[in-house]
Amino acid sequence: MPPQHQLCYSVLFMAAIAAGSTCQDCGLHSAPNEPSCAELRDLLLARDFEQPASYWRYHRLAIDAYCVQHAAYVESAKSFAAHLCGLCIAMEMGNNEAAMRALQQWLSMNPDLDKPALPKARGDLTIKHVYGITDPIAYGAAVREWARSAWDAYRDFHSTAREWLSCCRSKTRRNKS
Ligand SMILES: [Zn+2]
Repeated sequence: MPPQHQLCYSVLFMAAIAAGSTCQDCGLHSAPNEPSCAELRDLLLARDFEQPASYWRYHRLAIDAYCVQHAAYVESAKSFAAHLCGLCIAMEMGNNEAAMRALQQWLSMNPDLDKPALPKARGDLTIKHVYGITDPIAYGAAVREWARSAWDAYRDFHSTAREWLSCCRSKTRRNKS
């Protein structure tokens, strides 16, 4: 590399470090001294597993919120349906356990699903909103706010989620009888 290009590269590299990083999926901006989006995800998962008594009850909702905000986690129609419907059950159906079981059972039958294109904006709040909260009740409230923000960003898909949920309830009911 010619010296002037080397200098240019170094300047750009230093500027990138000074600027921190921005997650291309959820838009979270991390300052240079702050954990990145992926690091926050790892920290959240580690704490859920290490202190389940305090945080596990919010695990599924946090995962659903994180996944619908990150394309790699909802690449297949099945995972998209799982996480979007998970948010729907939490936001509109009071976390109904029977609905959640029916959803899992329906998805395990590999239904034929079409996955729509993801919205570009996936919520005003990101995983950063719940970072650093140690009180479990306050943490749970923050996870719910984050999930609400992700769910609202998917407003064009709410009817699809509701249709899928009603379809999976009738399919699993039919299977039982
Ligand atoms: Zn992100």
